Amino acid sequence: MLARPIRPSQKQTSFDQPAQWTPAVLAEMSDRFEDQSAVQILQWAVKHFDGEIALASSFGPQSIVLAHMLSQMDGDVTIFYIDTGLLFQETYDLRDKLEAQLGITYQRVATDISLGEQTQRFGPELWKNDSNACCYVRKVLPLRQTLSQHKAWITGVRREQSATRTHAGLVEWDHTNQLVKFNPLANWTKEQVWQYIADNDLPYNELHDKGYPSIGCWPCTRSVQAGEDERSGRWAGKAKTECGLHVRDNVQFGQIREAAAN
Ligand code: SF4
Repeated sequence: MLARPIRPSQKQTSFDQPAQWTPAVLAEMSDRFEDQSAVQILQWAVKHFDGEIALASSFGPQSIVLAHMLSQMDGDVTIFYIDTGLLFQETYDLRDKLEAQLGITYQRVATDISLGEQTQRFGPELWKNDSNACCYVRKVLPLRQTLSQHKAWITGVRREQSATRTHAGLVEWDHTNQLVKFNPLANWTKEQVWQYIADNDLPYNELHDKGYPSIGCWPCTRSVQAGEDERSGRWAGKAKTECGLHVRDNVQFGQIREAAAN
């Protein structure tokens, strides 16, 4: 729950709400949002989905920027993170710092399947043997369950992050989760994100200063060398580049889904 006034300088956009949230309507809206600021897009999103919208936080730099912007707006927005039980201690420390500094509360979302139970059902260290299945159980299913309680969500996806994100709209229809998805930072550069964090004196994950540009679960994240792609430290040595939260290819997980549900 957020309950702070919008600053006078943060003028709201006047786009009307469409009669229906179809993919075509959202694509057109995304084009119109291109000359709006991220704050204006967020204000529009919160105004039209008040009480029915959520920010998914990874505690990455983009999530920090968005949480800070939302913390200064009126409106009822759920801010949640997916706790796989395998996050770095530095990530939990950052959560605590952000809650204290921004005056917000992060909702913890997690699977009911403990790590011990996962080992019993699927074998030890599932992240080594089948990282797609591990992500599906520990991230994708809890996310789906949370999103099913909302009509829209906000992510920190940026177009320049990876080939799979190049065409991300500022707002779009999320076919997988069947709700509206806002990516207010889609057209931001990495430099803009870090400048915002510096300008607003925001805390960030200490691991970023130790060679970890992209941080997920500790078994699947390593530091990277100068010149390496910033996401090369995620699932290193595997073809996998996404945890599955933002892609549409989960058909192959039918058996895992059934097993996790039983
Ligand atoms: S990032 Fe690794 S440990 Fe975390 S849920 Fe995915 S496979 Fe499992």
